[in-house]
Amino acid sequence: MKVKAYAAQEAKGKLAPFEFELGSIGSEEVDIKVHYCGICHSDLSMLNNDWGMTAYPLVPGHEIVGEVVNAGDHVKNVKVGDKVGLGWFSSSCMHCPQCLDGHHHLCGTAEQTIVGRHGGFADYVRGHWSWALPLPDKIDMQKAGPLLCGGITVFNPIVLSGVSPTDSVGVIGIGGLGHMAIKFLKYWGCEVIAFSSNPDKKEQILEMGATKVINSRSEEELASIAGQLKFILNTTNVTLDWNAYLMALAPQGKLHNVGAVLEPMAIPAFSLIMGEKSVGGSPLGSPALTKTMLDFCVRHDIYPTVEEFPISKVNEAIEHLESGKARFRVVLKV
Ligand code: NAP
Ligand code: ZN
Repeated sequence: MKVKAYAAQEAKGKLAPFEFELGSIGSEEVDIKVHYCGICHSDLSMLNNDWGMTAYPLVPGHEIVGEVVNAGDHVKNVKVGDKVGLGWFSSSCMHCPQCLDGHHHLCGTAEQTIVGRHGGFADYVRGHWSWALPLPDKIDMQKAGPLLCGGITVFNPIVLSGVSPTDSVGVIGIGGLGHMAIKFLKYWGCEVIAFSSNPDKKEQILEMGATKVINSRSEEELASIAGQLKFILNTTNVTLDWNAYLMALAPQGKLHNVGAVLEPMAIPAFSLIMGEKSVGGSPLGSPALTKTMLDFCVRHDIYPTVEEFPISKVNEAIEHLESGKARFRVVLKV
């Protein structure tokens, strides 16, 4: 099968039309006709080779929703015609302790949709059945793509960290991931404090359900909530005053990081010891938890706030994200 995609040929290069052959399908694989694909900051980091692991030509895109058009003989969870989503992972080994435990996102050899293979800025994409997740019937396809990466990446830490509905919590960086975190935590029942560096976003952040917006880079504003938050989720990829955030935690609180911060994070030991505080991180979430999240979204009508671009304008769409103008997630219509 011939795939029509958009690819970059070099680091920081523009995307241009690119065709490739998919080859014959494996017995446990599915081919998905892509309807929409979100643009995550990780696509940008891969495009720019920020993590030193990009192979070119690169076809980005890992917030994919579409329809199964071809399924291998041993695929049982989905069939041709089903609506499915595919996120950061496109395959996992299915026999390591993590996969057997239902934690496929922790599989040491999991295949990543845009690492060493081609992603969803394309009319078709292939994946293993374990990560081709059936979508609820009533899901809004235009808005669902970002749930497959950004959404589960912020939903998983809420479950993992045992956030309770009575907690006061914080979210740092109100971009694609951060705005979905606010919506989830609000529905969870929490009081949500948003930490943002952009005052222009304030009104929209409050409308999403945050009770207060604090400047993420202001020492004084951070000091004003010292000792109050049980859980803080960082979604930025920049260096902030992490100790000021540890100080904002209540005793036994947790700072959880999902942002791809490149520099080592400075965490003073005594800031953890005295209040029994902890720091953690996580990649995406399991297929089963992703299903739970999708059902939760449909039940409560929780969706990312999206801006749609046609895939032919993919370079403008990327520039929109890179310049900090996205409100709050860009999706491509394929
Ligand atoms: P995004 O839409 O660009 O949002 C990032 C937000 O960080 C921005 O909207 C901005 O929020 C804040 N920020 C950016 N530069 C800043 C600066 N200089 N100072 C303070 N704040 C700044 O990105 P995203 O798609 O949400 O992705 C966020 C990060 O998560 C990326 O590093 C991505 O690679 C990573 N990621 C990780 C996983 C995982 O599995 N752990 C999965 C997906 C993505 P304000 O304007 O509100 O300040
Ligand atoms: Zn992503």
